[in-house]
Amino acid sequence: MTQLPVVSARVSNNPVVPNASGAIVNPAALPPADIEALYVHIPFCFHKCHYCDFYSITRQTPERMDAFVDLILREAEFWTSPAAGPKPRLRTVFFGGGTPSLLPANSMARLLAGLKNRFDFSGIEEWTIEVNPATAELEYCRMLRKAGVDRLSFGAQSFNLPELATLERHHDPSDVPRSIALAREAGFTRLNVDLIYAVPGQDLESWAMSLNAALALGTPHVSAYNLTYESNTPMAVKKRLGRLVPIEELAELEMFHHARRSLAAAGLQPYEISNYAAPGEACRHNLVYWTGGNYIGLGPSAASHVEGHRWRNRPHLREWEEAITGGHVPATDVEILSPSQRAGELAMLMLRLSGGLNYAAFAAKTGLDARTVFADQVNRLGGPGLLTADANAIRLTESGLNVADAVAAEFLSPA
Ligand code: SF4
Repeated sequence: MTQLPVVSARVSNNPVVPNASGAIVNPAALPPADIEALYVHIPFCFHKCHYCDFYSITRQTPERMDAFVDLILREAEFWTSPAAGPKPRLRTVFFGGGTPSLLPANSMARLLAGLKNRFDFSGIEEWTIEVNPATAELEYCRMLRKAGVDRLSFGAQSFNLPELATLERHHDPSDVPRSIALAREAGFTRLNVDLIYAVPGQDLESWAMSLNAALALGTPHVSAYNLTYESNTPMAVKKRLGRLVPIEELAELEMFHHARRSLAAAGLQPYEISNYAAPGEACRHNLVYWTGGNYIGLGPSAASHVEGHRWRNRPHLREWEEAITGGHVPATDVEILSPSQRAGELAMLMLRLSGGLNYAAFAAKTGLDARTVFADQVNRLGGPGLLTADANAIRLTESGLNVADAVAAEFLSPA
């Protein structure tokens, strides 16, 4: 992590400079680069799920949400106006949150149109919006489809009511097939269902039931993440107080392998450790993240990366609003990665892909030969059978998948 000298943002050519409230990123002074992906964080939720550490707030009025749209569009202009610096040549757009579908229909329509007016959408290959299964409506889905959105992602998490209660998810399992049917009626074919396993109280049988219920929907993409206890979430507090019993590691691994087997048998191959898709249906937006691409994020807490310059927006609605109205990118947690850090982090991400750490793709992003800089890791971890290296890529083996985080961490320091 590189700390930058303290200088005035307005006169500096430094792309990123600290200021009293965090840091200011100067888009015009960032390296020239193509920005392939745009993420928009809509930080509004009905209710805070107990495992969630994404930035989101509840109980906002339609007026506040509509004003939020104006500010997002102002933030977008920071990236469309500079004469120098990176250029948005968007291939993918993703609205996450929070609950993007909580935006009132007229506000959402204004946001979609406003972004299309500001960015060149002629090269868009994928535009995803996360939708709450409890509140999906046909007219809302139709409006999204008509505006050019072509992919919807539904947070099902589980089809078992007690597990949803443990997670403090406020929807009924029957909402998911209902909302998928509405999405199809509105013209969507690219659909994702998110699932969570290793929920306290879950066993292999109930996990298999949720997987089967998701598969019965016939979506071309399923994400299956293990529950993680992020610090300061109610789930983490309950765990600390002994008020819930986490799933044993071996049982969790069993659930992971069961998901791989059953989803693959249904034609959804794992293309990343937690993501499964039919041919051609992988999430292109997430692949930009996992292959070291350039992306910008709008909205509080949204992350951005441009050629090794990385930051996230302030995770606080009022602070983010103040920065936008003050005319600057509301950055915090700013890092400028050294070439070696960038290579190490990219290797970690690529190892999670079924295609593995592809030498050609890695060299295109870093200028380095992975066979040389990771020769030691391949020798040490290949011996015990945790990874393999062939003419094209380094990949985790089935045993390597069981300890994927630990194996990937070994790649953080290239030679
Ligand atoms: S709906 Fe999503 S973003 Fe909102 S609290 Fe639940 S998990 Fe977090």
